Amino acid sequence: MADECLVRAGVGQVTICCQKLTELRPTPSPFSKDIVLNWHDGPLEGIVRCAECAREYYFRDLAEDEEAGIRVYGLFALPSGALERVKKILPRKYPIWEFDSAPAKQAADEAIQKLRDEAKELSLVFATKDFKEILACRLGVEVEDGEAVDWVRFLFDAPEPVEV
Ligand SMILES: [Zn+2]
Repeated sequence: MADECLVRAGVGQVTICCQKLTELRPTPSPFSKDIVLNWHDGPLEGIVRCAECAREYYFRDLAEDEEAGIRVYGLFALPSGALERVKKILPRKYPIWEFDSAPAKQAADEAIQKLRDEAKELSLVFATKDFKEILACRLGVEVEDGEAVDWVRFLFDAPEPVEV
């Protein structure tokens, strides 16, 4: 049945569903970077969708290893349809954010805030250089509010997958 989780993503590329990632590293990313809401030398915040199961996640940059050019992202499960909802409200000229009016900008700001509010459950943490390849990944991560975590060490110094 494992083969059902494989999707041909291009020549020589096989992606693994987000639910199976923990067993594998490094692996081509199954995530399409659908919306980037914030950028600084790379995506900081946005929405991705798993090419295999269509689950949608809000992502946020958690840590960076500048020397290695690696970023660690947290993926937070979103209710399905969140992506379409936000796409409808963002300006058409995305990623150039030009709003026709102040109310349009306010509606977009509110939609993005709602998204952040919905994204409560940290489902997955992964490290990548470019969103095309996942270098290390952990599923089912539980973090207390305000807990400081060294995410780079967390991913790369802990080869055993967590039982979920
Ligand atoms: Zn998936």
